[in-house]
Amino acid sequence: MSVIIVGSIALDTVKTPVEEHADLLGGSASYAALGASFFSPVRLVGIVGDDFPASEFEFWKARNIDAQGVQRARGKTFRWSGEYAWDLNTRETKSVALNVFEHFQPVLPEAFRQTEFVLLANIAPALQAHVLDQVQRPRFVVADTMDLWIETTRPELNALLPRLDLLILNDSEAREMTGETSLIKAGRRIRESGPRFVSIKKGEHGALLFGEDEFFSCGAYPLEDIHDPTGAGDTFAGGLAGYLAGTVKGEVGFADLRKAIIYGSVLASFNVEKFSLERLRNLTQDEIADRYRMFKLMSQFEVLP
Ligand code: AMP
Repeated sequence: MSVIIVGSIALDTVKTPVEEHADLLGGSASYAALGASFFSPVRLVGIVGDDFPASEFEFWKARNIDAQGVQRARGKTFRWSGEYAWDLNTRETKSVALNVFEHFQPVLPEAFRQTEFVLLANIAPALQAHVLDQVQRPRFVVADTMDLWIETTRPELNALLPRLDLLILNDSEAREMTGETSLIKAGRRIRESGPRFVSIKKGEHGALLFGEDEFFSCGAYPLEDIHDPTGAGDTFAGGLAGYLAGTVKGEVGFADLRKAIIYGSVLASFNVEKFSLERLRNLTQDEIADRYRMFKLMSQFEVLP
């Protein structure tokens, strides 16, 4: 099964304490689409300007990412710039230029409208809703969000929540959204406001998953060298949604989501090893399978006979 992915497609400038790179390919949809493409075909929806490299369209094609839903507009591509502190965990946004995004009205190509799996990667909730409106009978809808939307477009975000199967957000966002210090209480509260499942990401400390009466917690893959944490969350969401679309035949259950979260974490852990999408571009299925096995071994605490 395919998965529709809508989100930002960007040119980023990223600064870490040791390196700075400009005009990197980024954006929530770029990371999510490439992450998902390891497990299922992707139908990408977004917008780029005339400064966007044409070679990327070729790359998408080669990766089974259908870019029919990516509009090419006159003007500049969305630009974002961020700087990381020495711990590579805290990040400051230095600048954002919406450019062609300012007047973006996503229109799903006819061929996309029957897609069963949908990932609303991080963009304004009104745009996420607009895309969802055009999908005829979505089977499983995942959305990601960020602090900006919790702070500036809360009514639109609240209206989207009951339409979601799974909401993904990070720990500080979950606390901000609910006013709860405890992530367990926050996860439960968010679930009660609409989505059937909620996943709270804790950066280098892993992720939590909440269902009606179910709970799951996993660690992150312990990496020695992180070069660029940008897009980790988007790659997590893409890997997770791609895994569900590519493997789950019937109703998506909690057991499927547990595995999807591990695959999302595996993909995200590779992504941060290099700048931009460079690591994902060269990643192989064998490497994914090896790291998945490592995750399994790491989460066992009883020695098996
Ligand atoms: P993450 O590191 O997972 O938070 O995602 C970083 C990516 O999000 C970068 O490649 C940015 O281009 C993109 N991004 C940053 N701010 C926004 C925004 N307001 N809307 C959509 N995408 C954004």
